[in-house]
Amino acid sequence: MGRISWDQYFMSQSHLLAMRSTCTRLAVGATIVRDKRIIAGGYNGSIAGGVHCSDEGCYVIENHCVRTIHAEMNALLQCAKFGVPTAGAEIYVTHFPCLQCCKALIQAGIKTVYYATDYKNHPYAIELFEQADVKIEFVKFEKTISEADKGKDELILHLLNKLSESNTDDDVVQALRNKADQILS
Ligand SMILES: [Zn+2]
Ligand SMILES: [Zn+2]
Repeated sequence: MGRISWDQYFMSQSHLLAMRSTCTRLAVGATIVRDKRIIAGGYNGSIAGGVHCSDEGCYVIENHCVRTIHAEMNALLQCAKFGVPTAGAEIYVTHFPCLQCCKALIQAGIKTVYYATDYKNHPYAIELFEQADVKIEFVKFEKTISEADKGKDELILHLLNKLSESNTDDDVVQALRNKADQILS
């Protein structure tokens, strides 16, 4: 059994957090790490106690949902709330940070930004990160398959192979294969 790397471990945590996101426009998760310890996490959502985009629809002004606080910001604010220093820390985010979050991360002393998905990577954000000597690193997120899922994996492939041998239309089998690839990748 392979042990997952630190990068995959922290990136998985951010993807898990993203699943708590309440904004239907984009599910983002962020994990702040210091000395290989998770010190805070955040996701894209409303203020505590506020209504959720997922219930009431987004509040869009000039093509931005203004209801939510971005994942990176929520993680930083969690540190502010509980007095946890962020100087020299690293952040793992599911998506490349927006300009506002970029500035906040730099100002909070974050030294490395790991991200899993390119998202409107703003040239000015890249420039600011460089200027502030903040390292930006792309981390390909590998979905980890749990032991329980491994069996399902094999069963699906077995069923697809059996289906290919039957009289089922090739296009139908191919469509199912593509769907399986999507789920299993
Ligand atoms: Zn929203
Ligand atoms: Zn942002």
